[in-house]
Amino acid sequence: LVSREHHPERSTVYVGGVPVGPDTVTLIAGPCAVETPEQTLEAARMAQAAGAVLLRGGAFKPRTSPYAFQGLGERGLQILADVRAETGLPIVTEVVSADDVGMVARYADMLQVGTRNMSNFGLLQAVGEAGKPVLLKRGMSATIEEWLMAAEYVAQRGNLDIVLCERGIRTFETATRNTLDISAVPVVQRLSHLPVMIDPSHSGGRRDLVLPLSRAAVAVGADGVLVDVHPHPEQALCDGPQALLAEDLERLAAELDALSGVV
Ligand code: PEP
Repeated sequence: LVSREHHPERSTVYVGGVPVGPDTVTLIAGPCAVETPEQTLEAARMAQAAGAVLLRGGAFKPRTSPYAFQGLGERGLQILADVRAETGLPIVTEVVSADDVGMVARYADMLQVGTRNMSNFGLLQAVGEAGKPVLLKRGMSATIEEWLMAAEYVAQRGNLDIVLCERGIRTFETATRNTLDISAVPVVQRLSHLPVMIDPSHSGGRRDLVLPLSRAAVAVGADGVLVDVHPHPEQALCDGPQALLAEDLERLAAELDALSGVV
């Protein structure tokens, strides 16, 4: 279902009316985690001022350590919905458990499945039945074939509104948190009709790498970029070192605009 073999045209997925697909470079920005109403609104305003068209933000955080901030749960979803009402930005947010899909789908415009859950087949089937577009991140140790098969699990339940997101894979390299597999973009685009984007924040894990990796994403033909922003990264409860400040995001958006006209 996700293969290009029987569907040669590349697809566009609409998220709350916003297109993600071959003719645009969609900028999705927002905080890694929803922490407070003020922080989320401020981050959303930063995102919107720079030109982001969708708001990201995690209410359920799949953290490596069980002692790390796990997210606000449904309260976080309510905050996101309030911020959407205030700004008009549709919401992309992660769901980590099949049991929560119905609840998260009541608030979200797009359901994110994170790297740690790419092979959670029950969750993939549940999001496939939820009637909302899905952002499917690549598992940190998944091959492209495994990633596309994960997308197939969603599609098989009747939902072809899937956007793939490369967010870095595990390699021997330790200088970056993950190694961004930039080649995944053209490889996937050849194999599948689904849009594919890049998350330079979670791949590099460092603010200074977000701009260069975003340039690479556009140059290689990615359909969008998903980035973390935070009004006060030093106080962030999750992934502060990779969060962009307002001026970084504005520069990134301007460069994406200029580059997408060239590529
Ligand atoms: C995220 O985008 O909030 C996230 C946790 O990303 P990943 O699943 O890629 O680690």
